[in-house]
Amino acid sequence: MDVVVIDPGHGGRQTVGGSSPNNAVGPAGTLEKDLTLDIALRAAPLLVDHGLRCVLTRDTDENLGLSARARVAREQRATAFVSIHFNGFNRRAQGTETFVHAGSTPPSTTLARLVQQFMLDATLLADRGVKRARFGVLAPASHHPSTAACLVEVSFMDVPEEEQRLANPSYRQGIAEALAAAVSEFVRGASFQLPAEVAMEAPEPEDGYELIVR
Ligand SMILES: [Zn+2]
Repeated sequence: MDVVVIDPGHGGRQTVGGSSPNNAVGPAGTLEKDLTLDIALRAAPLLVDHGLRCVLTRDTDENLGLSARARVAREQRATAFVSIHFNGFNRRAQGTETFVHAGSTPPSTTLARLVQQFMLDATLLADRGVKRARFGVLAPASHHPSTAACLVEVSFMDVPEEEQRLANPSYRQGIAEALAAAVSEFVRGASFQLPAEVAMEAPEPEDGYELIVR
């Protein structure tokens, strides 16, 4: 049975192995680490419903180092690894984006495209594309060579309207369903029509936008 590992980003109160306890914060105080855990806990039973074995890197408010998160997938020889994050920048930037490691293999790109496409159907936000970045949690050296790995930034939760939307459990459930459907689609290897315009390289920073180390 295929194993998929879902990694709720951040957690706990201290930085551990390059993983900060929290990054994005909503205007009303919502914490990214709580949203990532909520989505993961919702996605896990859905993945089981899809006939997969799902392992979470954490199921409580604790932090794991970036390589420790990857190690969970490596030890399971996972077919897919998805790290869940929410973004924050200037309370105006918005959109959904998914990352693969700059040194990743084609299956990771396939997984990332599916996650991006399904997630856009749930968030209905701007398509910021599939991008490459050297995120530690995706480092090929930390993963099993046969594991496809990506990191999704579901939305910018520091935008007030988005924080309010994320307070709605049905929206969060929709995000979890999109994640589970994308991973399931990847594992089944079913053919999937991808839009030709998916950008594979990170666009130039706009308005001083820079990736926040997480
Ligand atoms: Zn994050």
